[in-house]
Amino acid sequence: MKVLKFGGTSVGSTEGIVNMLDIIKKEVQTGEKPVVVLSAMSGITNMLTKMAEEAVIGEGNQELLQEVLDRHFAVVQEMLPIQQQAPVYAQLKIYFSEVEKILSAIQNLKECSPKSLDLVISYGERCATFLVTKIAEQYFPESLFVDAATIIKTDSNFGNAKVDTRLSEDLISIFYNSHADSLLFITGFIASDQQGQTTTLGRGGSDYTAAIVGSALNSSEIQIWTGVNGMMTADPRMVKKAFSLTELSYTEAMEMSFFGARVIYPPTMIPAFLKKIPIIIKSILQPDFTGTVICHSCDSSDLPIKGISSINEISIINLQGSGMVGKAGFSGKLFSLLAHEQINVIMITQSSSEHSITFAIKPEDAVKAQRLIEQEFELELQAKKLEQPEVEEGLSILAIVGENMKKTTGMSGKLFSALGRNGVNVRAIAQGSSEHNISVVILQQDLAKALNAVHDEFFTELKKTLNVFCLGTGNIGKTLFRQLYEHRDFLQKHNGIQVKITGISNSRKMLFEEEGIPLDSWQEELDQAGEPADLQGFVAKMKEMNLPNCVFVDNTASPKPITFYEEIFKSNVSVVTSNKIGNSSSYSQYRTFKDTAHTHGVDFYYETNVGAGLPIVRTLKDLMMSGDRVLLIEAVLSGTISFIFNHFKGEAKFHEVVKLAQEKGYTEPDPRDDLNGKDFMRKMLILARDAGYELEAEDVKIDNILPGSCLNAQSVTDFYKELEAADDFFEKLKKEAEQSGKALRYIGKLEDGKVSITLQMVDESHPFFVLSGSDNIIAFTTERYKERPLVVKGPGAGAEVTAAGVFADIVNVGTH
Ligand code: ASP
Ligand code: MG
Repeated sequence: MKVLKFGGTSVGSTEGIVNMLDIIKKEVQTGEKPVVVLSAMSGITNMLTKMAEEAVIGEGNQELLQEVLDRHFAVVQEMLPIQQQAPVYAQLKIYFSEVEKILSAIQNLKECSPKSLDLVISYGERCATFLVTKIAEQYFPESLFVDAATIIKTDSNFGNAKVDTRLSEDLISIFYNSHADSLLFITGFIASDQQGQTTTLGRGGSDYTAAIVGSALNSSEIQIWTGVNGMMTADPRMVKKAFSLTELSYTEAMEMSFFGARVIYPPTMIPAFLKKIPIIIKSILQPDFTGTVICHSCDSSDLPIKGISSINEISIINLQGSGMVGKAGFSGKLFSLLAHEQINVIMITQSSSEHSITFAIKPEDAVKAQRLIEQEFELELQAKKLEQPEVEEGLSILAIVGENMKKTTGMSGKLFSALGRNGVNVRAIAQGSSEHNISVVILQQDLAKALNAVHDEFFTELKKTLNVFCLGTGNIGKTLFRQLYEHRDFLQKHNGIQVKITGISNSRKMLFEEEGIPLDSWQEELDQAGEPADLQGFVAKMKEMNLPNCVFVDNTASPKPITFYEEIFKSNVSVVTSNKIGNSSSYSQYRTFKDTAHTHGVDFYYETNVGAGLPIVRTLKDLMMSGDRVLLIEAVLSGTISFIFNHFKGEAKFHEVVKLAQEKGYTEPDPRDDLNGKDFMRKMLILARDAGYELEAEDVKIDNILPGSCLNAQSVTDFYKELEAADDFFEKLKKEAEQSGKALRYIGKLEDGKVSITLQMVDESHPFFVLSGSDNIIAFTTERYKERPLVVKGPGAGAEVTAAGVFADIVNVGTH
């Protein structure tokens, strides 16, 4: 025989009741009648409580009472044939006039004892169960309404009464056996004490009723029908990727349900555990979904943790002082004091020095707890053996839960590194020696971020989400969005990564969307829905959104974003940049970026600063990390100059080649910006710094290709005139090179900590002799690559390859 418990969502709507009757029907058809336990309609217990509270201050709330009545009447109207409605209305009216009487008594006395409150709220279950029994009679004439107050006995601790298990089990089984032909519909949540006064089992307690009944009747299964698909890995309101768990042990279910969105009332587990009766949690809204099974030895999964539970708001009290050290009984005294005053302690930590004890409680208990401690330990406080108890508010608890944790090492390491990387400060830690739960206290404002980051860390079979904030929508930015859009499926499938663009800004507008800006229509969205751009505001909003696994991408060529990098690292956000200015300004700034990123455990990737998407920065980093030493770096890192010298042969005139390069879009609007070697210098400087040299821009020796007359020309047109006038000079160089079988190359060099960029003639044997188009090339001669250098060569400019490099950097943030 099975016990079927239906909660407020099932009882509270026509759809729910229809589904419920279907489920009962199927069960009856198996030949074994189930026992049904019901709770009040959703929200009704809260409404009744509210009315009682208002009555205390002398206010009657007729509207609310009417609303409660209407909810029940509506169901009668919809689900019963007219000729059967009258007696049901009549009984419901009797119930509600009783409620009204109690409420007016409370109003007169201006006092509502827990006993009166229990009586008021018990009508929620009574009305709902009565109503459903009447509806069920249409299909099962043997349906019988049972008021649990007659079969479940408790002490007189109103509001949270303790069940007399032995007596109740006897009463339940006697009742069941003497009504063998009936289909029982029992009110959940309520019971009665020895004097016959109505008590309740604590909020959410109708689950518990089901377990008591199940245990008394040795049922084969207890089904709990809720409005959610079983227990989930985390609170789905905060963690979008939370998923339903198929199996849990009783202990795990207990741990999971103590915290967070309560799916099941924790004490429910006890009777079921003792009798090894499986509990199945299912959703009335999706009856075919498997739900969660809680059972004795059904744990087949090897997930080290089952879920992450959380308590949204707690306060902690911190007690410290020498008075506690080595003093047996101190904590005993402290906690019995709190227990005596019904203050529930959620978590405790004590340092092994015994110098401090920290415990977490509900925020509403904080002031009372503080006062109690001050009274109790007055002498110690006066003698300064104890410091004034400190209350800290605005905190949350996050806990990872799972029985397999004790078999798996590294779980706490994983937890703390996920928190650390995301800049979540941990205020207190507790791990039960059972190792089923590791709890941390963190700031409430970090909870959503922490839950998501930890969820991503542990449930790696799910896609990891990177939340990306992008600056710049020029060629590189645009291309990047297109590439991300085109490769989204691939990324999910092969790298287990989901890249969400959560913020975009250019110099005009900015846009944020926590769910991700659609990459096929970002441009329209930004134009239409974007707000005026403001760099400071962009960074502030990114910090405020406080998302996990966050990356800031700078695809501008402006010095402004650079001023925010440090602040961004300090908020535990990684930076990916194609903007060279940051790394090539002062050395101290370069150092600060690296150090700050390192201290905050985030990444700083800038592969595209040198040679666009070519793996140059990464290659150098790998060489350095593996203990190699750079002896010489030679490089051609200007695509433009490369193009010019590759085409400057035969009959070609130098100024014509420069013009051609410009026409082909290889140069800056003013070609001198390329030819003056400044951009090349920045790249060489970054490489030299990455190779371990503390250099400034002034330390780089640049050979000017252009004669002074060209450099000083007022306009681009004038520049070309001067360049033409200098044709002879270049012609001579070309001839000289060609006659000796050499090629002209503008080469950057790092040797012995010195960087130079010079125009050279190289012969066939030099790796740079054959260089085509606008290619970049770099040769690393190192301790290990001494005989022949390690060479990287390929297209080193263009939106497509640069965006691809930025793309790779972003993905790298997700996979380290
Ligand atoms: N109706 C009660 C409550 O809301 C009991 C329950 O729903 O389980 O707390
Ligand atoms: Mg409930």
